[in-house]
Amino acid sequence: MVTDTEGIVLRQVKAMGGRRMISLFSQKYGKISVGTSLNEGGRNKTALSVKAFTYGRYELFKNRDNYNLNSGQVLKSYYGLGEDLDKYMVASYVLELTDKILPEELPQPRIFNLLVEFLEALEKRDKKHGTLVLAYLVKLLDILGTMPQLDSCVICEKEPAKEDGKYVADQFLFSIKEGGMVCPRCAKELALEDERPLIYKLGIGIIDILKFFQKQPMSAFEKIALDEKLQTTLQEIIKEYISYHLDISGLKSESFF
Ligand SMILES: [Zn+2]
Repeated sequence: MVTDTEGIVLRQVKAMGGRRMISLFSQKYGKISVGTSLNEGGRNKTALSVKAFTYGRYELFKNRDNYNLNSGQVLKSYYGLGEDLDKYMVASYVLELTDKILPEELPQPRIFNLLVEFLEALEKRDKKHGTLVLAYLVKLLDILGTMPQLDSCVICEKEPAKEDGKYVADQFLFSIKEGGMVCPRCAKELALEDERPLIYKLGIGIIDILKFFQKQPMSAFEKIALDEKLQTTLQEIIKEYISYHLDISGLKSESFF
């Protein structure tokens, strides 16, 4: 059967007999492996469309268990990200993580759109890119239904006080294992303080920032960069959280973010 879909090339792998497999995040089928005998060095239209970081339209031949590439056409190439080392590194990290998270052959239209929006925003961005990656990761957790609990204590549901519309949660802790914020009393009862390093103090603003990440569209982050200390803390929390709850670790590009 011949079919076509838009997709983003996550990566290429060499396969037997000089063939290659492309890990394609397709709009229609979710993540699929597509076989091709084309190589990266080629200059024709289809050869250009199979490079990583490409958003393209692909005509595929599908038989029972396999997809093979008939032809491809670049709709937008983000390959230019490669000219900026910092952008290249964070984009590699996001692509590798997304590749690991996506199950095979399960359409994920919201994550697909999020990834396109991320690449668009990254391309235009001239500030440090960490904040954009954080926004992507938080939104990804939200779509996957694994967002940490941020309104009240995960255990007793006590809500932190609010002042001028902002949470005053500095007595609360954030527990990676429990999956969200924990009030001082429950933290004491569980002796959570002993669970380092999987426990974090919720400094001022952290809850509000995470909620902001969750709610604002990706385009809102083009010009936002958190201060460095806050960025480092949040980065640590979110990476630990993802590795614990989505069982993602050992990424090749891990040190890039
Ligand atoms: Zn509690």
